[in-house]
Amino acid sequence: MFRSLVPLCALAASAVSLCSCNPWDGEEQLGLRHQFRTITTGGDGYATARLPREEFSFTKFLLAARATDGEHTVYVDRVLDEEGTPLRRFLSDLEVNEWRTGAVADQALNHLNWPISDAEPEIRGEEIRVMLGAVDASRNLAPSVQLRLDVLQSDDSNFTSGTLGVNLIFAGDIADDDEMVDAFEEAGERLRAIFDPIELEIELSTSTWPEGTLPRPGFGAPQTWTDLTESTDNLAIDVVVVYEIAGASSDILGAAGSIPGGLLSSEKSGIILSATANAGPDLRFSDPEIDLLAATLGHELGHMVGLFHPVELSYDRWDALEDTPRCTSASTCQNLLGSNLMYPAALCSVNGCLTQHDITPNQASLIHRYTGVY
Ligand SMILES: [Zn+2]
Repeated sequence: MFRSLVPLCALAASAVSLCSCNPWDGEEQLGLRHQFRTITTGGDGYATARLPREEFSFTKFLLAARATDGEHTVYVDRVLDEEGTPLRRFLSDLEVNEWRTGAVADQALNHLNWPISDAEPEIRGEEIRVMLGAVDASRNLAPSVQLRLDVLQSDDSNFTSGTLGVNLIFAGDIADDDEMVDAFEEAGERLRAIFDPIELEIELSTSTWPEGTLPRPGFGAPQTWTDLTESTDNLAIDVVVVYEIAGASSDILGAAGSIPGGLLSSEKSGIILSATANAGPDLRFSDPEIDLLAATLGHELGHMVGLFHPVELSYDRWDALEDTPRCTSASTCQNLLGSNLMYPAALCSVNGCLTQHDITPNQASLIHRYTGVY
């Protein structure tokens, strides 16, 4: 007698309902469950990833998607329930110039955190579907593009209090500049006061990186950024401190890799901060400058956990949150939103800078839904 070695999947294929051939591979990473697979776009340029409840916690997850050929860009068109009914169609937001997630824009590496906030419909069924589009250089949807998907999922269902880890990484010579290191560490401490009102605790750690010349995350040096973010193997946002951001305008205080940001190592899973832009030409931090630095750091962390500016400085684009009022001019927007953490610019006069620490309830809800908040 012999036993057949027909793969179980092939046997089960004849009885579809019995097939448990899970296309996702899994491992533990950063203390969370990490699942990954590839999927290929169909003739219309779209691919729909199915996340079954038996494999995925529906509490919160962070999806990272990219084309394996490195040539196509990827965007998330919509999230659907098990019956194919859209829970959220992101292009609808753009029709009214509102931004809910950066995942709606096509990018080489795309991140979606779900649910984005408690405004999303509850998942009742056995499956969530994410519909992705692959786009070629001419911005046409592209068939037969293989996408790599990485999903980090968290079972943390406390959406009113939590902890966010922050790695301050001093790059190049700045690590030997004690005054500078002290100023950034002090800003990290003051960060706690910004997030304290929404019961978000900041867990700060510090490290160094040998190379001091880095561009904004996602704007070059992909291998360096990937290696750097790989070097900090914890569930935290990597914040790289450089003297000057390579290739960026000298008035940029800091920049985040994406909205929301990645947690697994990648070319854009982090924040960069310019010491020079924050400290001013004397390269020394005064006490008010440390306050401003703490607010800048808080603002960039806000982007990483998924917050948009409540209004852009063009005053014709907004976030999709209901409690950040829509305004259409500089004076009105400064009045209504100028003290918000996510206001797009520091508001300073000869008397100093306006404190921008306000976080609205909807912004707080979104922060606590971020997969990296535990
Ligand atoms: Zn910003």
